[in-house]
Amino acid sequence: MITFTDVTKTYPDGTTALKNINLEVQEGELLALIGPSGCGKTTTMKMINRLIQPTEGKITIHNQDIEEYNIHELRWNIGYVLQEIALFPHMTVEENISVVPEMKKWKKNELSKRIDELMKMVGLDPKKHRERKPSELSGGQQQRVGVIRALAADPDIILMDEPFSALDPISREQLQKDIRNLQQEIKKTIVFVTHDMDEALALGDRVCLMKAGEIIQLDSPQNLILHP
Ligand code: ADP
Ligand code: ADP
Repeated sequence: MITFTDVTKTYPDGTTALKNINLEVQEGELLALIGPSGCGKTTTMKMINRLIQPTEGKITIHNQDIEEYNIHELRWNIGYVLQEIALFPHMTVEENISVVPEMKKWKKNELSKRIDELMKMVGLDPKKHRERKPSELSGGQQQRVGVIRALAADPDIILMDEPFSALDPISREQLQKDIRNLQQEIKKTIVFVTHDMDEALALGDRVCLMKAGEIIQLDSPQNLILHP
């Protein structure tokens, strides 16, 4: 579904963030990217939606070079949940979700149903939460709205860069469970970044262990535990 072939990234200042990466993300899998700060996780994610260009090598999605895609088409096909919660503070939850262009094609009463459906999918209560502003929600609830925004465009791929990092342990555990259920329900391909090994092992279908710009291990949690 997503492939990296011999991908190297050297930033203009000479920092080599990725060294000859080869990676194949399978359709419908939840892949956890893990490794210490600075190992190249964010660079990898940003390359998938062409926020960063590789210095060398090739990236494909559905067997097509991402350079050949229309950039808007590519970005709408990829939902990106950022580490920083990026909601519009003056807008309600409903309004924050409605800004996604894909939502504009829904008729008013259908849109309302769609928003309900999306909210329930990530464990928000439409009755209670749809009229609230971000400041009236907990960090975890805000993250869920971020996840909904990524889902709203109905992308094939969802990228999540430490979506749980700002959360307290209880919200974190709950949101992890919800993401897991969600992925099984909607069968999207999800790549997420974490630096918590327990989280990677609990959530990932496969775990990709990175270090200093290289992939040092890529395997199922079971095999990683058996053959560390
Ligand atoms: P992370 O939380 O993934 O470790 P960083 O804090 O490393 O993220 O990076 C945050 C942002 O700063 C990213 O957009 C990254 O591209 C940029 N960045 C990181 N390191 C540098 C650097 N040495 N020079 C310029 N920009 C950088
Ligand atoms: P991670 O997400 O694993 O923390 P990053 O992909 O953010 O790692 O960064 C990988 C390496 O590239 C780090 O050494 C970081 O400082 C560097 N880096 C990231 N963004 C930039 C940038 N825009 N310019 C220069 N160096 C960068």
